[in-house]
Amino acid sequence: MSFRSLLAAGLCLAALSGCANRQAIHTGSVKTAYAYGMEGEQPLAASAPAKEDTVAWMRTVHPNALAGRMLAVGSLHDIRLREREVVLTFDDGPMPGKTEKVLDTLDAFGVKATFLMVGQMAETYPSIARSVVARGHSIGSHTYRHRNLASMSFDSALSEIQRGEKAVQKATATDAAFFRFPYLSDTRRLRSALTARGEVIMDVDVDSKDYFKDGPAKVAERTMAALNRRGRGIILMHDIHKRTATMLPAMLNELKAQGYKVVALRYKRSRMPEQMIASAE
Ligand SMILES: [Zn+2]
Repeated sequence: MSFRSLLAAGLCLAALSGCANRQAIHTGSVKTAYAYGMEGEQPLAASAPAKEDTVAWMRTVHPNALAGRMLAVGSLHDIRLREREVVLTFDDGPMPGKTEKVLDTLDAFGVKATFLMVGQMAETYPSIARSVVARGHSIGSHTYRHRNLASMSFDSALSEIQRGEKAVQKATATDAAFFRFPYLSDTRRLRSALTARGEVIMDVDVDSKDYFKDGPAKVAERTMAALNRRGRGIILMHDIHKRTATMLPAMLNELKAQGYKVVALRYKRSRMPEQMIASAE
């Protein structure tokens, strides 16, 4: 990717990224794991295979050591994580060149994530959106245009949500029952309305802040430090950023080294047809 396109992606993220304003913590050992090989013992240059073989190599090194339980959920309250359990979430995609790389890494580590897609993005890149489903991840929506819903009227906000959900459902041919508020900007009334419609609202416990223009190692280090303060939680990342795709192997390796397990989410009931229709109109 050229510097210009990277810069464009960076500017794009200012409008697209979820932006919880939380304190960054700068401790942890991810930098070490990032600088060294996947096992964190041998220097990467001495043991790493050619780039194209990296995924196959990681698969042999990490035979599902990170995969935790599958959690069937019908609402946010069902996501009750135990100590050292995390849920991986990726917002704002799908994005060519980045989402596929994230998917390859998740496959290599044998773990599943939840992708909260922007309707416009799913509409533009439906084949990538379908690929996310085909590879066993759970799907949600994130409005149609990534609007700040708290600044809109209730009716306009609901319309924006429904349009986004419809676009994601059409692109993925699945019930995108998970939802995350852009910028984590919600209202009590919207939360109640979505819950009544059977949506699983995805809040955030650990913000990777991967929309900041930091290097991949710093993002991984910051995320692990924030996670270690809590010991468990839902992690927010974005599959539209190169730095996120780049840092993910190191972060997953560090999760594994520290004994964390990645919990997969499954929507536990089919919504009634009228709820699906209501959400699609
Ligand atoms: Zn977002």
